[in-house]
Amino acid sequence: MRIGAYEVIAVQAGTFGLDGGAMFGVVPRVLWAGTNPPDDHNRIAMCARLLVLRGPERTWLVDTGLGDKFDAKKNAIYAYDGMMPDEALRAADVDPDGITDVLLTHLHFDHAGGATRTDGSPTFPRARYHVQRSQLEWARDPTAKDRGSFRPDDFLPLYREGRFRLMDGPGKLDDGLEVVVVDGHTPGMQLPKLSDGEQTLLYTADLVPTTTHLRLPYVMAYDNNPLSTLEEKQRILSQAAREGWTLFFEHDVNCTACRVVEEGGFGKGEEVTI
Ligand SMILES: [Zn+2]
Repeated sequence: MRIGAYEVIAVQAGTFGLDGGAMFGVVPRVLWAGTNPPDDHNRIAMCARLLVLRGPERTWLVDTGLGDKFDAKKNAIYAYDGMMPDEALRAADVDPDGITDVLLTHLHFDHAGGATRTDGSPTFPRARYHVQRSQLEWARDPTAKDRGSFRPDDFLPLYREGRFRLMDGPGKLDDGLEVVVVDGHTPGMQLPKLSDGEQTLLYTADLVPTTTHLRLPYVMAYDNNPLSTLEEKQRILSQAAREGWTLFFEHDVNCTACRVVEEGGFGKGEEVTI
């Protein structure tokens, strides 16, 4: 798919499983088990789908998957089957050396896990890494609620080496490319939005991890501020439905991208081929 000067490429970096109850918050299992069937450990299937935006001068990689820092026990707990993002890029015929910018939506391990190697070196040594300052500050000192979602080895080496370009709030990254910032899931989660005035694509990260989460009350129990997530979903999905945006899903194993419809509540519209 092309949007303006950018080639848009979806890259699959692996699959994993998370507890269905945690993924759907207050929504009863009988309501989500049909669309997201749990396994015998109550895990639902998730994927780590990365996004490449190849422009005339810069090539952006959005998120890096889980990487390879888990031991066998953790891999089994999360049913993780995946690869480092540079391998995933090669498998998708994208040269990892061509990545000039890595945009991390936030620093949870399933998003920033592949940002560094097990020895702490950057996976993309030639790239600038972009993260919101408020997210980095939070990740360095999280609450007990989401401490388990951060692995300091994913991001502290980058911070210590001064590799981060810290951003303060929403703003433009490049021609046609900007970030929307939301705080309900975790402070300073940034969602890249690419637009040429006709087509708009939003990478929804953990604001809308799967198409099932398009429904307003389907908010993860992981979220730090679920009422903020509700308000952010209402505002962003209303605009997306009105303006016909394409939503790109990081974690939906069955749907890469679709439009959203608003008929009473929000729901999945036409699928979009990336
Ligand atoms: Zn997250």
